[in-house]
Amino acid sequence: MSDELVIVTRRGPVAVVTMNRPRYRNAQNVALTHAIDRAFVAAVEDDEVRVIVLAGAGEHFSAGHDIGTPERDIHHDFPRVATTAWPHADKAGAEAMFVREAEAYLGMCRRWRDLPKPTIAAVQGACVAGGLMLMWACDLCVASEDAFFADPVVRMGIPGVEYFAHPFVLPPRVAKELLFTGDRMDAHRAAALGMVNRVVPRERLLDEALALADRVAQMPRFGLMLTKKAVNQAEDRMGLRDTMDATFGLHHLAHAHNALTAPDHLGGQTVRSMKRGSTE
Ligand code: ZN
Repeated sequence: MSDELVIVTRRGPVAVVTMNRPRYRNAQNVALTHAIDRAFVAAVEDDEVRVIVLAGAGEHFSAGHDIGTPERDIHHDFPRVATTAWPHADKAGAEAMFVREAEAYLGMCRRWRDLPKPTIAAVQGACVAGGLMLMWACDLCVASEDAFFADPVVRMGIPGVEYFAHPFVLPPRVAKELLFTGDRMDAHRAAALGMVNRVVPRERLLDEALALADRVAQMPRFGLMLTKKAVNQAEDRMGLRDTMDATFGLHHLAHAHNALTAPDHLGGQTVRSMKRGSTE
């Protein structure tokens, strides 16, 4: 057990970036988000690294954004590697919310999605809400048979997590079903719909992700960079980037509405109340 929020190991040409808050199902406080960011940047800068694998320690990949652990840190500013907005901690109202999430959630996930090296998510157990953002920002996904995917934030009155890729990684009707119900989607359905590349037994998850990473790593570095750019640009021409920008405004209308009508910007929802409403 390590106190590090992110553990980086090298397996040949592959950097494995492992989120390390297993006690909290790798819930993303901002400190963890920034640790992931630093690890990704270091992996891009290291010429020996050809492919990046993102994993989560413990039983679950990610329970999403931290809405209730003792180390929740949404009121702190962190030094940034790159930035899309100014520090938020001393700002008020919708400005504070908007600039914080523009940087820590949407901005960083978009930048990770456009990292010049291929990324593979290795997902087990819960991949919920903010967890989807991490997995969707990766190019490929290997999931274990026990993996499940859900975005229950409509329960907070919010139209999905900040990185609104739902109708691009899923057919629109399925995206609506995921959002309208908050229900879990299992790994096999996710694979059948193309959101996951491979489903493997739990005990084989990291090995299978590494095997896939090794295959990809044999391709020329620059060719991979250009190919990734080609597909990402195609997604953006199909409307992914514009959709996210438009939905980010709706997302923050919802946060502001919650702040005006409920105890907080999450509509007063807590980890416990969110769990009560789930199909768990
Ligand atoms: Zn938000």
